[in-house]
Amino acid sequence: MKEVFTGNFTQQEPIPEAAIEAAVAVMRSGRLHRYNLLPGEVGEVARLEEEFAAFTGAAYCLAVASGGYALGCALRAVGVRPGERVLTNAFTLAPVPGAIASVGAEPVFVGVTEGLVIDLDDLRLRIAESGARVLMLSHMRGHIVDMDALMRVCTGAGVLVIEDCAHTMGASWNGVPSGRHGAVGCYSTQTYKHINSGEGGLLVTDDPEIAARAVMLSGSYMLYTKHTAAPGPEVFEKVKYDTPNVSGRMDQLRAAILRVQLADLPRQAENWTARYRVVEAGLRGTPGLTLVERPPQEQFVGSSLQFLLLDWPGERIAALVEACLARGVELKWFGAKEPVGFTSRYDSWRYVAPQSLPGSDRVLCAIVDMRLPLTFSLEDCALIARIIGEEVRARAA
Ligand SMILES: *Cc1c(COP(=O)(O)O)cnc(C)c1O
Repeated sequence: MKEVFTGNFTQQEPIPEAAIEAAVAVMRSGRLHRYNLLPGEVGEVARLEEEFAAFTGAAYCLAVASGGYALGCALRAVGVRPGERVLTNAFTLAPVPGAIASVGAEPVFVGVTEGLVIDLDDLRLRIAESGARVLMLSHMRGHIVDMDALMRVCTGAGVLVIEDCAHTMGASWNGVPSGRHGAVGCYSTQTYKHINSGEGGLLVTDDPEIAARAVMLSGSYMLYTKHTAAPGPEVFEKVKYDTPNVSGRMDQLRAAILRVQLADLPRQAENWTARYRVVEAGLRGTPGLTLVERPPQEQFVGSSLQFLLLDWPGERIAALVEACLARGVELKWFGAKEPVGFTSRYDSWRYVAPQSLPGSDRVLCAIVDMRLPLTFSLEDCALIARIIGEEVRARAA
């Protein structure tokens, strides 16, 4: 009898009871809008911003409606203009090139290595070719490039870095929290990320003018003094008349449930990585399967795991995905011709001028991806690895 897994790869844990109570208290108050405050009241959203600023060590923080909104807001706040070229990863998720397109700018894709991080040699080349002055760096699936080296390349070339930390909230490189190397860090609090408010986003920066513009952009009207993790009014005086309002605020209800979860994130991050390590250990040594080795400087959150089936014919990978699914293991393959679910590739985004990245194609076609929700036990993770291992061995050349 072949073993079968019966868990659900998209089932998150319930919202903690303390968060539910905080949400109910907000609903009882009737004051759900972030600026609907009593005299002297700070509110859940501003408190969340203070706490996330402290968590990341940033001077300023803004909570917004989604991770994608945070990315678009960051691009506007640093002054990206329509028609401008913006560098980004060829291996990322649709909202990243989407944010660039939303401001009328043109994504320029940079290649991916077998370590699933941005290729720094290709980055140097694309900076020189494109003349771009902004890189929107996606820490896709939680893989963090050597940030010291990346910042040397970008600082040396005068390229400003915006970090997409949708998969690295709670992670760090060489002890520096993810999102704190570049000028702006953007995070998502969507259900499939590390803290869950259904939808939501956070943006951090140390730059007072970027912070003030982001607050104005998010739809603060002239209520910016209600922000307790923002710069002083003198900074807003400089930007308030010429920064458009592109509404994308967070509300008190989401902030209330996020604050409770943020306090628990370091512990949850360990739980995720423990699951990751069990699957990784179970897959190690499987012929034909390449694991992505994690550098010691990278403190990651193992909420998903990727492996490579390098140079496997597409039909064989498709058959493997099908066989694993039949045994309850839901794998995502980035090489499929048609984008499916959350899985798409740089050539799926046809609003962008076609670009050729042959080195990256070999890697992208080999990436197999799975989520590891915290509702899985360590035993579940060992079973998942056994099933994948057996099915890969049955097909390895
Ligand atoms: C989820 C995600 C985003 C955007 O987050 P939303 O909150 O869904 O808008 C950005 N980048 C990556 C890599 C993501 O996975």
